[in-house]
Amino acid sequence: MATAYVYDFGEGSREQAELLGGKGANLAEMTRLGLPVPPGFTIGTDACRVFLRTGAPPSALADEIAEHLAGLERSIGRRLGAADDPLLVSVRSGARFSMPGMMDTILDVGLNDTSVLGLAAASGRERFAWDSYRRLVQMYGATVLGVPAARFEEVLTRYRRRLGVADDLGLGVGELTEIVGEFRRIVREVAGEEFPQDPREQLAGAVLAVFRSWNGERARVYRRREHIPDDLGTAVTVQAMVFGNSGRDSGTGVAFTRDPGTGRPGVYGDYLPDAQGEDVVSGVRDALPLQNLERLDPFSYERLIAVLRLLEAHYRDLCDVEFTIERGRLWVLQTRVGKRTAEAAFRIACALVDEGTITWAQALARVDGRQLDQLTFPRFDTQADGAPLAHGVPASPGAAVGAVVFDVAEAVRRAATGERVVLVRPETRPDDLPGMIAAEAVVTGRGGKTSHAAVVARGMGKVCVCGAADLDIDVEGRRCTGADGTVLEQGATVSVDGTAGTVYAGALALVPSPVSRYLETGVRSAGVVEAVARFLEQADAVRRLHVLANADTAEDAARARRFGARGIGLCRTEHMFLGPRRPLVEDLILARTDADRRLALDALLPLQREDFTELLAAMDGLPVTIRLLDPPLHEFLPDHTESALRLARARARGEEPEPRAVRVHEAIERLHEQNPMLGLRGVRLALTIPGLVATQVRAIGEAVVARVRAGGDPRAEIMIPLVATVEELRIVRAEVERVLAEVGQAAGTPVHCPVGTMIELPRAALTAATIAPVADFFSFGTNDLTQTTWGLSRDDAEASFLAGYLERGILDVSPFETIDRAGVGRLVDLATREGRRASPGLRIGVCGEHAGDPESIRFFHEVGVDYLSCSPFRLPAARLEAGRAAVVTATDADSR
Ligand code: PEP
Ligand code: MG
Repeated sequence: MATAYVYDFGEGSREQAELLGGKGANLAEMTRLGLPVPPGFTIGTDACRVFLRTGAPPSALADEIAEHLAGLERSIGRRLGAADDPLLVSVRSGARFSMPGMMDTILDVGLNDTSVLGLAAASGRERFAWDSYRRLVQMYGATVLGVPAARFEEVLTRYRRRLGVADDLGLGVGELTEIVGEFRRIVREVAGEEFPQDPREQLAGAVLAVFRSWNGERARVYRRREHIPDDLGTAVTVQAMVFGNSGRDSGTGVAFTRDPGTGRPGVYGDYLPDAQGEDVVSGVRDALPLQNLERLDPFSYERLIAVLRLLEAHYRDLCDVEFTIERGRLWVLQTRVGKRTAEAAFRIACALVDEGTITWAQALARVDGRQLDQLTFPRFDTQADGAPLAHGVPASPGAAVGAVVFDVAEAVRRAATGERVVLVRPETRPDDLPGMIAAEAVVTGRGGKTSHAAVVARGMGKVCVCGAADLDIDVEGRRCTGADGTVLEQGATVSVDGTAGTVYAGALALVPSPVSRYLETGVRSAGVVEAVARFLEQADAVRRLHVLANADTAEDAARARRFGARGIGLCRTEHMFLGPRRPLVEDLILARTDADRRLALDALLPLQREDFTELLAAMDGLPVTIRLLDPPLHEFLPDHTESALRLARARARGEEPEPRAVRVHEAIERLHEQNPMLGLRGVRLALTIPGLVATQVRAIGEAVVARVRAGGDPRAEIMIPLVATVEELRIVRAEVERVLAEVGQAAGTPVHCPVGTMIELPRAALTAATIAPVADFFSFGTNDLTQTTWGLSRDDAEASFLAGYLERGILDVSPFETIDRAGVGRLVDLATREGRRASPGLRIGVCGEHAGDPESIRFFHEVGVDYLSCSPFRLPAARLEAGRAAVVTATDADSR
C-alpha cells in the first residue's frame, strides 16, 4: 500500500535524494541494481520537517513504520527482537547533503534481555550477542536518552585495564554481561528511566533521536560552514543488521573506487576484521589496508571489487562504500559519490573524460575555483630540514604551520585571537568539530584514511595526518613526544605535511606548489598539473566572460599575463603617490597659490609617466584601464595623533615647531572627515583640486606616445571613480579629452583613450541610462557599491559586528566576499540592462573583489557583464569559474 512518509528500499532511486536523503536514495538505487544490500526502508525528510516544525512526528508515522517493519519481517522471515533468531535493525540519519558523522546512528535495535539469548543461540556466538547488546545500550543511552558518552567509556576503560587488554575484543562473555548490567544502571540513574525492553519502543525512540540530531550542535555548526540550509531535515534509514563482528570470517570496511587523496585508480580503503562499522569510522582501532582482504577472504574481495566497478560505471564518478562481511558473505551498507581532495577532484574528472565516461561540461561541474586555489598553496621544502617528529597516514594534503594544542576549547580560544593552531588528538570524534574548524591542521595518533578525522578534514580541505602512532600524545599533560624523544609542550610550533603524512617540530620553509609553478612558468608535468592545465584550456575555450587583472605595477602586470589575464581592468593609481613620493603630494596639498600647485604637479608628472609607460609595456597590445586618483587626500598625510604629538613635544622642549610641520598639521585638521568613505574622494577630488586630472591624464597620454614611438601597441583607457551624477562625468571627460588632444598635438600624433566610469554608488546604478551615453565602458566597483548599498564601511563592519552577524545566522556569508544578489546584485543587473539599452555596445565589467569569487562569477555571467577584473592570484580560479558558469547548469552542479 502507498504510504505518505515511509518508502521501502525497492521503491526509490538516486534522483530522490531530496526526499530520501543521500543515503536512502543511494540504497534504493543499489537495491534496483541488484547489489547485495540488506533490506530496509527509509523515512522521508518531510516527516522530519513536520517534527522540526511541530515538535512531534506526523500522526500517521507510527502506523506506517509498523507496516513497513511487518513487510521487512516477512521478507526476511524473522521478527524484530524475537526471542529466537531475532531481526535487528540499524537506524541511521541521511540528509540531502552528506554530513559525515554529524548526526546520530543507532545499531542493533531489537536486542533485549531475551532476544540477546536468541541471537546467541542462533549465531552460536554468545560473546558476539552480548557485545551487540552492550553496543545498543551504550548508543541508545547516549543518543536517545542523553546519557553522557563518557559515562559508558569509563566503564569500558575500567574493564580493559582490569583485564590488561588493549581493546574491546579482549572482553569475554562474563565481562560483557556485567557491563550491560552496569550500563543499564547508568541509564536508570542518569536518564531516570529504564532502557526499554520493547523492540518497537526502541525503534520509535531511535527514529526521534535521529530527527532531533538534525538540530544538534555539531550538525548546526557543520551546516553553517558548508552553507547547507537549516530547514531541509534528515531522512532516517532503517535497515536489517548484518554483523561484521561475527568472528574471523567477518569484518567491516570502507572502500573507494579510486584514491580520494590523489585520484589515482586502484583499490583503496580500510578493513577491520571482526568489527562493526563504527569501529572503522571512529578510528579507535587501527584498520588494515583494504588490500589485505584479498588474502583474508579472496571470494568476498573479488565480489567487492566487482561492486566497486559497477558503482563507478553507474554513477560515473568516484564512489565510496561501507561494506560488511558476515560469515563470508558480502553486504553493501551504503554508497555515495565520495568526498575527495582538490588534487583528486581534478585528476579523477580528467581521467573520467579520457575514459569516455563523462563530457568536459560534466567534468567542469566537479571542480571549482576554491579547489584550484587550494592547489596553489605552498608546500613544505622537505629537502631543507631534519627528520620528522612523527609519521602517519597522509589523510588530507597541504602544508600547515601552527601552535600545537590538545583540546578543542584551546583550539577555538587561540584561533579566535588570530593564532594558527594545529589540533593534536589521539582520535577525533564528532564533538571535536569546532576545534577542527578552528585548526589549520589535524593530527591524530590513531585511525586510518577513513577515520572521522580524515573524512571530515578532507571534506573541509584541511591538512590532516592520521594514525601518527610514533607520536606519544598526552592530552592531560598537554604535551606530545616524538619518536626521537623530542617533547612538544602546548603552544610549541609544528609543521604538518598532509601530502607526505609527516609532522615536524618548528616551522618548515615553504616552496611553491607544482600547480603554482606551472602557472608561473607554463611548464606542464604529469599528474595534477596536467589535469589543471587541461581544465583551464577547456574553461578558456567555453567562457563568455573575459578575464582581466587588477594590477598597479609592471611586475604585477607581468604576473597577471602569465596567469592568463587579457589586460588590466583596474590600475589603482594611488600607490604612485605613496612612499618616497609622499612629500610631493604633501606639497600639492599645502600649495597656497596656483604657481605652487603647478610646481608640485610638475614634479609628479614625469614619475607617473614612467609608471604608466612601464605598465603599458608589460601589457603591450592589451587594454590597461587606469583609474584616476580615488582616495581622500588625508590618506597621504601623516596620522593626526602622531602629528599633534610631534608638535606638542617640540613646544614642550620650548622649541618653535618647524613651519612646514605646522602647516601639515593644519592641513590634516582641515581635511579631516567624519566618514572618509563618503567624503572628498574619487571624482570629487578631480573636480576640487585644480590640475590633478590634467596632470594624471597628461602622464597617461605622454606614456602612450612614448610607447608608440618605441614601436609598442599601448591601449590605455581612463576610468573615473565614484561618479554619482552624469554631470561629474561630463565635466571630467571633457577635461580628459582636452588634455589628450593637447598631448596629441604636441607629439604630432593623435592620442585616443576610451573614457569610462566606475559604477560604485547606488545613484550611479539607478541613473545608468543617463550616464551610459557619456561613458565608453562601465566597471562595477562592487566593494564600494556594497558599502554604500548596505550603508556600512567594510573595515569598520569587519572589525565589529560582521562576525557576530555571521555567527548568529543573520547573514550566510559576508556581502564583501560573495555578491549580495538580492540587493547589490539587483543594482548591477539594473544598471547593466538600462546602461546597454541607452548605449548599445557599452562594455561592462566588474573590478571589485567579487570578480574573483566563484559564487559571484556565476551571477555576473548570468547578468551578462562582459569582463571580470581581479587580483593576479585569483585569475586562474576566475578563468575556471567563468568557464564553469558558461557550461555548468544548476542541476549539474547540484548532482555532484
Ligand atoms: C570597488 O569599489 O569595488 C573598487 C574596485 O574600488 P576600490 O576597492 O579601490 O575602492
Ligand atoms: Mg571603489
